[in-house]
Amino acid sequence: MDDLRSLLDRTAELAVDYLDTDLDPPVSQPVEMAELVAALGGPLPEGPGDPVEVVEALARGVAPGLVRTNAGRYFGFVEGGVLPAALAADWLASTYDQNPGFHVLSPAAAALELVCSGWLVELLGLPSEASVGFTSGAQLANIAGLAAGRGEVLHRVGWDVDADGLHGAPPVTVVVGEERHATIGRALRFLGLGERRVVVVPADEQGRMRTVDLPAVLGDGPTIVCAQAGNVNTGASDPFAEICEAAREAGAWVHVDGAFGLWAAAAPDLREQVAGVELADSWAVDGHKWLNVPYDGAFVICADREVHRRAMTLSASYLARADGGRDGTDWTPESSRRARAFAVWAALRSLGRDGVGQMVSRCCELTRRFVELLSEDAEVEVLNDVVLNQALVRIGDDDERTLAVAAEIQREGAVWLGTTVRRGVTSLRISVSDQATTETDIEVAATAVRRAIAAAGGAGAE
Ligand SMILES: *Cc1c(COP(=O)(O)O)cnc(C)c1O
Repeated sequence: MDDLRSLLDRTAELAVDYLDTDLDPPVSQPVEMAELVAALGGPLPEGPGDPVEVVEALARGVAPGLVRTNAGRYFGFVEGGVLPAALAADWLASTYDQNPGFHVLSPAAAALELVCSGWLVELLGLPSEASVGFTSGAQLANIAGLAAGRGEVLHRVGWDVDADGLHGAPPVTVVVGEERHATIGRALRFLGLGERRVVVVPADEQGRMRTVDLPAVLGDGPTIVCAQAGNVNTGASDPFAEICEAAREAGAWVHVDGAFGLWAAAAPDLREQVAGVELADSWAVDGHKWLNVPYDGAFVICADREVHRRAMTLSASYLARADGGRDGTDWTPESSRRARAFAVWAALRSLGRDGVGQMVSRCCELTRRFVELLSEDAEVEVLNDVVLNQALVRIGDDDERTLAVAAEIQREGAVWLGTTVRRGVTSLRISVSDQATTETDIEVAATAVRRAIAAAGGAGAE
């Protein structure tokens, strides 16, 4: 036991050293893959090694290749950070080694999932009877939500897709927005609905679905509409009330990809942006982005629990069902998995309703501040309406120059942000989704961007 205690104490020490933000290390640094592989590789060890040495070698070996996404100065993609209570709870989830797939394997994990489900739908303003599955990410949540939709729209015309598949099934029309996330396409591939076999509704200048075009494409047959809360570039959300009304009239299923944007529903000052989202049939939302739980953790939510369960459930002769229990596998495409609800429960319990709303709202406020500071530079152009936590910034109205500035920021490593190409135009893409980000971090970041602009040469420079 003493050995185990020193191993875990040493591990906690390594973790705290890493998280000590006073050290001000680079967010990321250029590293050769070969260097990392050399440090971590070599021949497979012949026999056992001392666990403390193993963990120390691991921490040493990975260090140059770590990207500090959770220390407040990472603005790439939409990453989120890690709330302290969620991190600690995640350690316990691994310590207890609970499998939430089946109630009998962990009544504790089942209870946590049940409690978190209630808290989540309340926080997000979704129907109180909605069911929740705990998935690895929004990718899998999109697959699960669309699978439920596929099952139900076919069920309504007398086709059992679960039993009979899509061979000979009535065609399903899938309607998507022009600026849907790439994971929607992959979900459609896996579900046999086809990534290319979609009806694309044009988007407006902020990337929102243009609803005027919608009624025309919603036919009489089985139809699924994929809407979006939080465009991955602009942060804009689709007009859900109009989409859901048109869909209801046509008998279509509405699935919302709300990976990060659905969290706007938890902030009173942002809720309007996703008005009507509660009228949809299924939702995908990440925990590991804006709720700031560690990777991985996301949710698929379905208004009709029976439809959800029918699409996901699993049965085998040795699977005993507990009366009044919750088998996690009934709500996700996974069987065994990590007990994700530990971290989710701790995040929700440590922040509370107001805390979640304030965290989301503050990220948006800091995004506006970031853009305001950058706008002092005449070469900076902000391309989107900064309505959420996403901003697109172009330098000198020039693709090459914008890319050069991004490369310089990444080389320097004080902060990290990436680029995107939207409608043929290159820009820096800024996302503020880490609870650790402070006003100072934003000032440091804005200074880093302006330093990179200077380093990348003035307007008209070579
Ligand atoms: C991040 C994201 C996804 C995919 O989520 P993962 O958690 O990476 O699986 C899907 N849709 C949108 C809008 C996203 O931002």
